[in-house]
Amino acid sequence: PPDVQKLGVASWDFLHSMAAKYPDQPTVTQEGEMKEFLKIFSHVYPCHWCAKDFEKYIEKHAPRTKSKEDLSRWMCEAHNSVNGKLGKPKFDCNFWKQRWQDGWED
Ligand code: FAD
Repeated sequence: PPDVQKLGVASWDFLHSMAAKYPDQPTVTQEGEMKEFLKIFSHVYPCHWCAKDFEKYIEKHAPRTKSKEDLSRWMCEAHNSVNGKLGKPKFDCNFWKQRWQDGWED
């Protein structure tokens, strides 16, 4: 079976990087594409129970696509919800930019 851990690290790397590259002022088209992408992602993610839970999360917490800041925080909260489910510590979302855009100072 595929390695759910390895797939997860790689996928979060992709998802947070994608959010960090999202525009500060997206067009209506860009917002629509991001919402559609996340919905499709939650259907095709190759860990079925992960995908199902992510789909439910998206239904309850609609992706916030108004800006890079909004989307990056939404992604951080979505990741924290999985962290919580797995008994892992939550990440402080105030640090999303240091982790996923600028890099840590030290
Ligand atoms: P990860 O949780 O993969 O995190 C990678 C890095 O991201 C961390 O080292 C940290 O630097 C940073 N980070 C951590 N939290 C945040 C945050 N909130 N915001 C920003 N950055 C952060 N696994 C399961 O066993 N069951 C599931 O149901 C499940 N569902 C998943 C759903 C999705 C959509 C994805 C992408 C993954 C899912 N996973 C699931 C995998 C799981 O989330 C982890 O990727 C995996 O357990 C490996 O965890 P890790 O501790 O190595 O780091």
